[in-house]
Amino acid sequence: MGVLFLFVDGVGLAPAGHDNPLSDAPTPAINALLNGALTIERAGASTRALLRPLDATMGVAGMPQSGTGQTALLAGINAAALHGRHQPHFPPVALRSMLIERSIFRRLTAAGRRVAFANAFGVRYWEALAARKLRRSASVIAAEGAGVRLRSDHDLRIGSALTWDITGETIRASGGDAPAIAAHIAGERLARLTARYDLVFFETFLTDLAGHGRLAHRATPDRSPLSIAEQVHMAIERVDGMIRGALDALHPGDTLVLTSDHGNVESLSSLAHTRNPVPLLVVGPAASRFAPLVSIVEVADAIVAAAQEYTA
Ligand SMILES: [Zn+2]
Repeated sequence: MGVLFLFVDGVGLAPAGHDNPLSDAPTPAINALLNGALTIERAGASTRALLRPLDATMGVAGMPQSGTGQTALLAGINAAALHGRHQPHFPPVALRSMLIERSIFRRLTAAGRRVAFANAFGVRYWEALAARKLRRSASVIAAEGAGVRLRSDHDLRIGSALTWDITGETIRASGGDAPAIAAHIAGERLARLTARYDLVFFETFLTDLAGHGRLAHRATPDRSPLSIAEQVHMAIERVDGMIRGALDALHPGDTLVLTSDHGNVESLSSLAHTRNPVPLLVVGPAASRFAPLVSIVEVADAIVAAAQEYTA
């Protein structure tokens, strides 16, 4: 019995309407859970799932960003306030030691719990780091600091890891090499891992890329162009398929938690991030533990508690 923590980058919670492509997105699994689309009107409106809006601004001016947002989510610290501003992409260097010490991975492994980071990091990732084309994300820093194994292409091939884009389509469309995995199969993989661990973490950046307009072509040989709304629909449809697969295969004692670091995809009027709240979607017996949360800073403590309380 474990907690499956899905981190989806750049998904905010806003009112339904023409500006919000989540209003009419092809998300049957989410819609079944919420009796409607992933919009703010559905917060508190369903008994099948908990949906809450979480503040992602952390009380700091400017647009929320991934570096400080992901640090806040993984370590339960107000990274933007500590840093004095929102920082994009990667955690502020001065907060790295705090991220390591307080991460959900470190806290759970120190308590003797089993933690899996389900993303696969292939040879190309390590080469990009070595060539300084990339820096370590909050999740990788936290995992390495806790001794949580970073999975490889081998894990991907044997079915115990996923690519960051869930199905491999986006990686292949950009010339990379990744096996094709249907979104619901990806979700089943995560559920199978959750049966063996107290916490399974998976992160996807697909949604944020869509909100920035960076998935501009269909991942098919004709590479037909996609509007921003179509990009968002493609990304969230993949997340939805993964949720469906996970919920079909999770055990009744498991809890699925999905949240984000900042808004982006829920507003077509801008390709930038937003100051909207982000969704906290929780399905399973630990959902009540997440019911009082109001900020992304509070997610880490609830994850740590849920992963210990509901597992044996
Ligand atoms: Zn972004």
